[in-house]
Order: sequence, then structure tokens, then C-alpha cells
Amino acid sequence: MGFTIHGGFMRLRHLAMALSNLPPHPQRDASLEQYATEGDFAARWIAEVVEQGDLEKETRVVDLGAGNGILGIGCLLAGADSVLLVEQDPQCVHEYEGVEWLIGDVKGWSGTDVDLVIMNPPWGVQIAMADRPFLEAAFSSEAHVIYLLHSAKASHIENLAKSFDWGGEVVLSGSFRLPAKYEHHSSHQGMTEVAVWRFKRN
Ligand code: SAH
Repeated sequence: MGFTIHGGFMRLRHLAMALSNLPPHPQRDASLEQYATEGDFAARWIAEVVEQGDLEKETRVVDLGAGNGILGIGCLLAGADSVLLVEQDPQCVHEYEGVEWLIGDVKGWSGTDVDLVIMNPPWGVQIAMADRPFLEAAFSSEAHVIYLLHSAKASHIENLAKSFDWGGEVVLSGSFRLPAKYEHHSSHQGMTEVAVWRFKRN
């Protein structure tokens, strides 16, 4: 299985392997709600972005709450023009050719020079509303399209998007493995249901 990008063919398995081999997210700071995306799911997500026609040679990508950068780097490998990784935890940062890091709070991001925002931010489960600064940053940015992974249980997302004049739909869903320290929040065996949203301006 694979997908085509800029006239070339990329195997999903190769993308998943490259992303699985990134330095792992340290996931050591519970207050930052660090639920890392696994390589296989990230690769499926990136393939969906390509299939939607949202990733072109000139696409400038910003990954908010990037962790080890798995989503932004996935976009880079699939042919994005530039990738900025915004992450507060300096322990997540590593050298990766072709990406830039903005180390600090998402509130410090300008929201400019961006076509596509991709993010799996904190969900606001540990700390109420921890997802809000991310949603607000994305919806008030210059981006044309936003991809967001959130808990499938979250019910506030569509209305919040609407209040910024964005509309969205779920384009991918799956199960997510939570780090052991969050397991008491999940229904069974540390798995929880997630949804990937795609938003466009109304
Ligand atoms: N996107 C990555 C990481 C998800 S976990 C992945 O999918 O694997 C959410 C990330 O957001 C963590 O790395 C956490 O450190 C970061 N984060 C939490 N609050 C933040 C804030 N206010 N500003 C910037 N990054 C933040």
C-alpha cells in the first residue's frame, strides 16, 4: 500500500518506519499532557493529508505541540516546502535536517507564514482547557487548512471551530495507546479512541 506525492510513489510502510525511528518522545511531564502519536497512525494520517490534496510542493507546515516532531516531519517526508515544529518541552528537541523548531509556548507562535497546521495537542484531560490555546492559535492563524487529533469523546471542537468561522469533519479515527501514567483515564488496557479532524474556513 502506498500513495503518490508530486508524481512519485511512497510506500506507507516506509513512511511509518521512518517515523517510528525518530527519537521517542520522552513523555515525562504529565502537566504538558504528552500523548505521543505512533508511527503507523502518523503515516496513515499523512497519507490522508496527501489524498485530500492538502500537501503540495509549496505547502508551509506548522506542527503545534510537536513533541518529537512526528507529524511535521511526516509532512516533510511527504514533500512539504517547510516545516516549523512548535514545542514547549526542550527535552523533545533533536536535530532533523529540513525542519525548524520554535521552543516555547504555543502562544508565542505568530500564526503567519503557514498554509497547513497539523497538531496532536494536549487534550485538556489532565488540565482543563489545555487544548484551547492550540485551537485558538490555529483558528486565528493564516493557515488554509487545519488537521487536529483529539479524543473522540471531545464534544466542544465543532462549536469552537464555528466561532472562528471554520468548519470541519472527522477524516480518520483509531485507537491510541496512552502512556502508563495516564492509564487510569482510559476504558481498557490503556487504549483510547481518537479522531482526526480536517478544518477549512467557512
Ligand atoms: N504532536 C506530538 C506530541 C503530542 S503530546 C505527537 O503527536 O506525538 C502534546 C505536546 O504538546 C507535548 O509534547 C507537550 O510538551 C506539548 N505542549 C503542551 N503544552 C504546550 C504549550 N502550551 N505550548 C507548546 N507545547 C506544549
